[in-house]
Amino acid sequence: ALQRIGFIGLGNMGSRMANNLIKAGYKVAVHDINYNVLKKFSDIGVDTKETPYEIAEASDVVITMLPSSSHVNDVYTGPNGLLHGGNVLQPWLLIDSSTIDPQTSRKLSLTVSNCMLKEKKGHWETPVMLDAPVSGGVLAAEAATLTFMVGGSEEAYMAAKSLFLSMGKNTVYCGGAGNGSAAKICNNLAMAISMLGVSEALTLGQSIGIAASTLTKVFNSSSARCWSSDTYNPVPGVMEGVPSSRNYNGGFASKLMAKDLNLAATSANEIGLTCPMTSQAQKMQVHIQTFAKMVMKARTSPVFSGIITQE
Ligand code: NAD
Repeated sequence: ALQRIGFIGLGNMGSRMANNLIKAGYKVAVHDINYNVLKKFSDIGVDTKETPYEIAEASDVVITMLPSSSHVNDVYTGPNGLLHGGNVLQPWLLIDSSTIDPQTSRKLSLTVSNCMLKEKKGHWETPVMLDAPVSGGVLAAEAATLTFMVGGSEEAYMAAKSLFLSMGKNTVYCGGAGNGSAAKICNNLAMAISMLGVSEALTLGQSIGIAASTLTKVFNSSSARCWSSDTYNPVPGVMEGVPSSRNYNGGFASKLMAKDLNLAATSANEIGLTCPMTSQAQKMQVHIQTFAKMVMKARTSPVFSGIITQE
C-alpha cells in the first residue's frame, strides 16, 4: 500500500527527505510553489505536479514538509489543495512532518478521517492523517538519521514505519492526533532553555576565570551535560564543526527557534498554564537576534546557540 508517495514542500529539509525516499525505491511525485526547487527534481526525472490536488490524485501516501501551520492549512484545504476533491480522497495516508501547533494537527486529522477513500486500500475504510514532525537538522535529513515523533492512529503508524525509516533512524509513537506536534514543541522548548542555561553558565565561568573548554569537559562528565554542551557548544573554539566555531553561520536559525517558542507559548496560553522559562527564552531569543544583527552585520538569520557569550 506504500507504493506511490507524493511529497510537498521541497525546502532545506523536504528536498533531502524526498531524495532519500527516491533512493529507497519509492515512486515519488513532488510539488512546491517554488519553481526552481521543482525544476531540480524534474531535471533528474522525478515526476512533478502543479498543485497539491494533483499530488493527491497520483499518490497512495502524501507527505508534507512546510514552514508553518498556515502553509499546511493552505496545502490541505486551499483551492486545489489535497482535499479539493470534497470528501473523497485517493491517498489512504496523509503525513505532515512540518513543525506546527497540535491544535491545527488535530483539526486536520479530524477533517481527513471524516473523508472517504476513492478506492478501498487494504483494510483501510477511511483515510488517516499522522502528525510526524522531526528532530535533527538538515544534516540528519541528508543522512536519513532524523527522529520522527508521531501522533495519530497507532495502526497507521505501524504501517508507515518503514517509510519513516527510509528518512530517519528513530521513530517514537506519541499517542493520538496532535501528540507528535506536542512532543516536537516541548522538545524544542527544553532545548532552547538548556541552550540558554549552558550559555549563561559558560559566560559566568569564563568571567570568573575558567576556560570554556575546561568547563565544558566538566559539564560533559557531570550533571550539566546536554545537547548544547556536548554536540552544539555555544562558545567559539570549544568544538569543531558547530556554528559557534564558524562565526555562527549555518545551523538552527534563530527565526525557527522563535517560531517554535511561539508555538509553545501559544499552547500554554490556551490552557492557562504559566511557563515563565518559555517567556524568558522568547525574550532572550529576540535579544540574540537583535544583538547578532547589530554586531555581526553580515547575517540576518543567526543561529540560536548562545551568541550572548560574545557580548
Ligand atoms: P524551508 O523554508 O526550507 O522549506 C519549506 C518549503 O515549503 C519551501 O521550499 C517552500 O517553497 C515550500 N512551500 C511553502 N508554502 C508552500 C505551499 N503553499 N505549497 C507548496 N510548497 C510550499 O523549511 P525547512 O527548513 O525545510 O523546514 C520545514 C519544516 O520542518 C518547518 O516546519 C521547520 O520548523 C521544520 N524543521 C526544520 C528543521 C531545520 O533544521 N531546518 C529541523 C527540524 C524541523
